[in-house]
Amino acid sequence: MSRISSINVGSIKVTSLRDGELVLPAEVLLNLRDEEAQIIKDEPENELSYTNVNAYLIQSDDRNLLVDAGCRELFGPTCGFIQDALGEAGLKPDDVTDLFLTHLHPDHIAGTVNTDGTAVFGNAQLKILDKEYEFWNSDTFEAVEVNGAEWAGLAKAVLGAYSDRLDVISFEKDIISGVTSLAIPGHTPGHSGFRVDSGHESLLHLGDILHFQNLQLIDPNVSTVFDVDYDTALASRKKVLDMVSTDKNLCTSGHWLAPKFGHIERRGSGFAVAE
Ligand SMILES: [Zn+2]
Repeated sequence: MSRISSINVGSIKVTSLRDGELVLPAEVLLNLRDEEAQIIKDEPENELSYTNVNAYLIQSDDRNLLVDAGCRELFGPTCGFIQDALGEAGLKPDDVTDLFLTHLHPDHIAGTVNTDGTAVFGNAQLKILDKEYEFWNSDTFEAVEVNGAEWAGLAKAVLGAYSDRLDVISFEKDIISGVTSLAIPGHTPGHSGFRVDSGHESLLHLGDILHFQNLQLIDPNVSTVFDVDYDTALASRKKVLDMVSTDKNLCTSGHWLAPKFGHIERRGSGFAVAE
């Protein structure tokens, strides 16, 4: 099955790259109804806690921007296929000119470095938002349960591997021409999505506001233990879902399921991807 799906946003080509897929246990979810928790516990192949790990390739003029890079072997044999997906899109790692990381969690950054710590993307300029850079370079993360020393160690290893070609940028600055970051604080302090604008068309990537689309659209109160600041992440999820359903934006995100691009609409007390 193909790992990629492409659309054109004006003159910019955007390709989703599926690094892999996972079913996670109920223990990583918060605010679940008992009934749903039971399904997740009873059915190892359930749809509710099924998720994808995505990266994105954005091609404009002579730039090949890769956003996120998957989790390598860190989450088991069903993930770690970012280079296969890139190959399917016709690119080798050395063809990537720019690399942007939505945040420095392992499922987004491990694929940027080989197991020996060297950079996978030999010609890419790495761009990181200043707030995210500062968070992972501080020592405060050790107080946060699931973002402990191991995850910070990987984040620092990635920053080290690209230290000679690293741009720490602010939210106001373009990532490349036509692509800007979208501040979605909470999941991590500098967590972001991005938007692509070209001609009269646009696409919004919503970062990691949804880890489990089949649960969190219907009930946005369902959260995960991976949020550094739970309250802010929850408020961000509701605000962004409100915004994109009102504005009818074309959307995708870091853990979006197939089809990879769609519109979110209000449905009942929650939301759904429009048919
Ligand atoms: Zn993620």
